[in-house]
Amino acid sequence: MSLNNKVAIITGAARGIGYAIARRFVEDGAKVVLSDVDDERGEAAAEELNGLGEAIYVHCDVGERLDVRNLIAATLDAYGDIDILVNNAGIVAAGDFLEIGVKDFDRVLRVNLKGSFLCGQAVAKHMVEKVAGGGAPGAIVNMSSVNAVFGLPNQVPYSVSKGGVNQLTKVMAVSLAPHGIRVNAIGPGSIMTDMLASVNDDPAARNRILSRTPMGRIGDPREIASIAAFLADDDASYITGQTVYADGGRLPLNYTVDVPEED
Ligand code: NAD
Repeated sequence: MSLNNKVAIITGAARGIGYAIARRFVEDGAKVVLSDVDDERGEAAAEELNGLGEAIYVHCDVGERLDVRNLIAATLDAYGDIDILVNNAGIVAAGDFLEIGVKDFDRVLRVNLKGSFLCGQAVAKHMVEKVAGGGAPGAIVNMSSVNAVFGLPNQVPYSVSKGGVNQLTKVMAVSLAPHGIRVNAIGPGSIMTDMLASVNDDPAARNRILSRTPMGRIGDPREIASIAAFLADDDASYITGQTVYADGGRLPLNYTVDVPEED
């Protein structure tokens, strides 16, 4: 169990990819703090994982500085340390560029980008102090997306936020490298969670996704969790500042667009 006794905080862990990461980390022997804004689901998830190993739930809206401070304090209170942070919490707001409102723009940037900054900085401060005292450096994993790279016309703030997460990952990595702390990101393609649930009832949407996914299937959250486990572990000891894409071949595919028929 490679994450044995490591203490990990995972944001947005009540369901989806965050929950899959929490489960994998517990299975790998880590003590896991699941945090979310969905307290009912978060508590239930932590209780379920407690049957497999050690896990607690702490409420944290990642965009709220005081919530983040409380998350750090509660983790140190429960487990006395923080070795790993997974900045996973994320939301979407669909809308075309000419229509999307500033409220939606702010809402998405606040959770996806500012939240990763707030949690990342707070945990990094603890890690730097720990290293100065002779402790082992930790690792931070940010959740990006293939949308950080390409532009989808109806995913304006989301794409911008994930582009920012990639840049945040690089800046954090070079800032924290002198302390031995590694920071990497994961860029999933289409993964079957609530964020993608609408495609279940919409064959056209499902076809659109599959038509640009060379592996011909939607990914499973566990396929993202295994990357998080690798990046958080000492096996990845010389990797920092990278985004690892898990997208069934979507990014390497050269896109096509519909061409209108000539009269
Ligand atoms: P999800 O909607 O299933 O889960 C997101 C979780 O984040 C929920 O539990 C939600 O309550 C929580 N959350 C929302 N706002 C929060 C806040 N302010 N503070 C703390 N928690 C908050 O989504 P998912 O598909 O599991 O996505 C997880 C991450 O993976 C996100 O960052 C998302 O952008 C990224 N991602 C997902 C996909 C995909 O296809 N599912 C693809 C690429 C990237």
